[in-house]
Amino acid sequence: MRYAEVSVNSPIAHRRTFSYTIPNGLDIDVGQAVWVPFGDKLLQGIVLELSHYPAVAETREIAGVIEPHPILSSAHVSLAHWISEHYLSPIFDAVALMLPPGFERKVVTFISSPPTHHEQDISSLIQEQRQVLELVHRQDKVSLKQLEKALGKKKAQTIVSQLVGQGSVVRSYELEPIKVKPKSVPYLSLAVKASEAQKEAARLRAKRATKQAFLLDFLAQQPEPVSLVEARQRAKCDKAIVDTLVSKGLVTVRQIGVKRDPISYQNITISYPLRLTAAQESAFKSIQSSLLQVANGYASPSVFVLHGVTGSGKTEIYLQALAEAVRLGKRGIVLVPEIALTPQTIERFASRFPHKVAVLHSKLSLGEQFDEWQRIRDGEFDVVIGSRSAVFAPQPDLGLIILDEEHEWTYKQHDKSPRYHARNVAIKLAELTGAVIILGSATPDVETFYHAQRGDYRLLQLPERVTPSEGSPLPKVEVVDLRNELKAGNTSLFSRSLSQATAKAVADGEQVILFLNRRGAANFIQCRSCGFVLRCKRCEVALTYHYVEDALVCHQCNYRISVPPICPQCLSRRIKFLGIGTQKVEQEASYAFPQARLLRWDSDVTKQKYSHEKILGKFRAHEADILIGTQMIAKGLDLPLVTLVGVVNADTSLNLPDFRAGERTFQLLNQVAGRAGRGSFGGRVIIQTYSPEHYAIQAAAQQDYALFYDQEMAYRRQLHSPPFTRLVSLTYSHTNDALCQKEAERMKRLLIDERDSKGIADISVIGPAPAFIHRLRGRFRWQIVLRGSKPSAFLSQIPTPQGWAIDVDPVSLT
Ligand code: ADP
Ligand code: ZN
Ligand code: ZN
Repeated sequence: MRYAEVSVNSPIAHRRTFSYTIPNGLDIDVGQAVWVPFGDKLLQGIVLELSHYPAVAETREIAGVIEPHPILSSAHVSLAHWISEHYLSPIFDAVALMLPPGFERKVVTFISSPPTHHEQDISSLIQEQRQVLELVHRQDKVSLKQLEKALGKKKAQTIVSQLVGQGSVVRSYELEPIKVKPKSVPYLSLAVKASEAQKEAARLRAKRATKQAFLLDFLAQQPEPVSLVEARQRAKCDKAIVDTLVSKGLVTVRQIGVKRDPISYQNITISYPLRLTAAQESAFKSIQSSLLQVANGYASPSVFVLHGVTGSGKTEIYLQALAEAVRLGKRGIVLVPEIALTPQTIERFASRFPHKVAVLHSKLSLGEQFDEWQRIRDGEFDVVIGSRSAVFAPQPDLGLIILDEEHEWTYKQHDKSPRYHARNVAIKLAELTGAVIILGSATPDVETFYHAQRGDYRLLQLPERVTPSEGSPLPKVEVVDLRNELKAGNTSLFSRSLSQATAKAVADGEQVILFLNRRGAANFIQCRSCGFVLRCKRCEVALTYHYVEDALVCHQCNYRISVPPICPQCLSRRIKFLGIGTQKVEQEASYAFPQARLLRWDSDVTKQKYSHEKILGKFRAHEADILIGTQMIAKGLDLPLVTLVGVVNADTSLNLPDFRAGERTFQLLNQVAGRAGRGSFGGRVIIQTYSPEHYAIQAAAQQDYALFYDQEMAYRRQLHSPPFTRLVSLTYSHTNDALCQKEAERMKRLLIDERDSKGIADISVIGPAPAFIHRLRGRFRWQIVLRGSKPSAFLSQIPTPQGWAIDVDPVSLT
């Protein structure tokens, strides 16, 4: 094959690849990283295909290879194509997801002798040419930079071009080296013979310097240097003792390089498989048999949906399924939401697969990420665990992919291209590699569950907690109607029920979480008396309040009205109630529960003061009685002293202008409820709301997924929402609002003209409207939504103008 189709790292490449000639003598494979000329630049590219014929008449030559071996497997090449086509993203953006961390670096040009070098008459050369040649011969390889320093930029480039033209030197290209500082730790060893050290120890002991003596004796018994940390632990001495012995010339300290290892195994003890409960056993058997059948080539792998309430033992199934995959010579990838990628989670996997677990984490330094990536590719790990982007880890022999909390929205990358969903990517990757996949959740995404119901995926259920506390397997949930509170003259944020329960829990030395499911700055207005929320007549969604204009706006169709002076439902004047924030709750709680120690946890606090772990650590150590926070606290926490969770106003997420608002609310309430009663005290949940009859709240209160699912699907069908249709959102942003709106209107006309000229009947164009977050980092945003059976196929035919962001299957319209 003489031609290569290359995905080039250039913003103007879009969804295209480019044809290049493969120069004679160069071995090129699919998945290989190469240097290619592009315009007047030399850019990185990845070979995605080889062919006998170029796609265009004139092709340029590949300039060189970046790495001798392919970086992308053929499955990853197919996956990149799929991502680019499905999410309408530039192909290199998709490819870049799979490259080693720090790969997109500057290129360094080197000059060296050609491979078949013969003696050359240098008498005809000018002096500088000779100078360069001699340097190249002497050093084997000289960077162009070095020559530029010696001769001046222009001159060096001219001379090199002349010499390359004569065939007496060749250019080659390398990536600028990654600046990884190797990590090193101090080690102790004796500076004298062991026998001498022991003699000295005896002398010191006589002088009552027992600590110094002890350390000397300890070191005399060690065959090898000991890390300072270990020596201090085992010889029970402090830094001053070490320093004294160093100053006496008896002990030396040396820095020794260590491999970076994001998991510290010092405090991890090995764990063993638990005996499964009947429900776990039956779920596990199905997974096991699918793994076996795939291994034997009898069947293609299944997609499993593992639906189990919090604490039902899903993680134990993941661990045993991974062990089974490993037994069959395979490896696994485990995805967890970023916020759940805590030391506790990692420890559960690391303790079952000691030294066989890699962690991919955005908090690792670039050097650590790079090291981890290399080691994964070399097959050092059975299990790779990480958040969203870990789905692209170069894990060889992939046999099992696990997505925990598969309904989590953070699996969708929504802020930059490609706007992929890790669940869909994982399913595609599983199909390409022949891996089994498990989607686990207590509240599966209704679209996932819909596929399970249709038989596309296989449903496994764990209906009960493994260790139900006495008498109450799940916490009791009470729904409080806030309308009754106001009628009864209670104007506080806390209902009578929640106040009493909180005061009692605190008095009994237990802990309470007060939860606010609120996100974003913009908001809806609600009647404080009856809870009425104004909605768009066309779109059903709650209208968003705009402070500046004092108006209500539909963020889907741009319908606008001014705020009515009285509530249309109950005629109350308290119509402009804008909801509440965590600070307000904290303030009211300090009046209502003066004895309680409060801790607030929201993004304001975590940004400024402490990290999540610190706040959580404080609460776990019982340094506070009440934790007040937003959805961050809903996840993955195991807090045995928490016996009460209060949801201050459940309607906040219910009234987001989004067809997924009900699902979002159900998931959040369910998760929050799962926080209560994890210890032996049992638990109680109080949900405050103005819409106690809403099915999302009813179903969450009864912890009844089926109830929620049926109602939600009926609603989705009626409104033509996914999964009964597909959506693509297009967002345009600009610093000038009027210009932004104008461009959005132009785009809408263009889309409608395209659609009508092609005679496509089933696509509707919704909007344009200001995006829910109308202004972000100084730019205004307007949005158009396409709805239909194949909106992205339609859109792929239309070149995307500059400034538009396309989100296929958006996870939210806000
Ligand atoms: P989930 O992942 O569904 O929330 P976990 O796997 O964390 O549930 O299990 C909840 C608790 O029950 C954990 O403490 C776990 O160690 C324990 N557990 C799970 N399976 C078993 C079992 N078969 N026997 C005993 N304890 C179990
Ligand atoms: Zn009202
Ligand atoms: Zn509308």
